[in-house]
Amino acid sequence: MASDAINAPNQLLGKDDSPPVHEVNAEGRSPFLLTCDHYGRLLPRSLGDLGVGESELARHIAWDIGIAGVAERLAKMLDAHLIAQRYSRLVIDCNRPPGVASSIPVISEATTIPGNEGISAEARDARRHEIFDPYHRRINAVIDQRVHIRRPTVLVALHSFTPVYAGVARPWHIGTLYHRDTILPRHLLHHLRAEPDLVVGDNEPYAVSDVTDYTIPVHGEARGLINTGIEIRQDLIADQSGQQQWAERLARIFAEIETALRAEGLA
Ligand SMILES: [Zn+2]
Repeated sequence: MASDAINAPNQLLGKDDSPPVHEVNAEGRSPFLLTCDHYGRLLPRSLGDLGVGESELARHIAWDIGIAGVAERLAKMLDAHLIAQRYSRLVIDCNRPPGVASSIPVISEATTIPGNEGISAEARDARRHEIFDPYHRRINAVIDQRVHIRRPTVLVALHSFTPVYAGVARPWHIGTLYHRDTILPRHLLHHLRAEPDLVVGDNEPYAVSDVTDYTIPVHGEARGLINTGIEIRQDLIADQSGQQQWAERLARIFAEIETALRAEGLA
């Protein structure tokens, strides 16, 4: 990234903007590597408010409400490395292949995003090169390094979902999201279903696919890592006490899964 130069005409991030990648516990000893594609809702100053009202920018269309607080706590409880992305998914969605319509959406749920309409190829490239690429390069480099030092790596992509989408209420408290992995989702579903108070989604409210996802197919499946996505319903983690409770629950479950994976020689 250019940093010292005067802003080039198509440069997105300026010197007052935060870097896109946020990390916790980079030296963490856990086999679990946590990612959080929709951690933040920052907007680069050069984009203003994208023509979207402040109340809309606080909604799920801009980020995964509550997941940042869960991810930070879970990383510390597990001593796991967390790699997260600070900018809003409305700038560029870090869990979409670049180039698909939902990568830089002109509409999300029922909200139009005027600042994304009719933008130039250069402006699209800047969003990719300054936000999407550094985040995914960092995940890639961390996995490379872990492979190099033979540290077991189990990829867990953390997300949250809105309780009501397009007028339809969703009953699940938490869901596993996966595609090709046959190991970790099975363990996670087993443990979640043993929790008496939970309604658990098996590939609900979404399933992972190569066209609707990026992190799991590219960093998990293509690299042969055991992996899963997790989606937690946003009303359960909207405040700090909910984030703490869910982090504690997941830390307990992941500790049990780690023991099981080690017994199978997989972590
Ligand atoms: Zn998400």
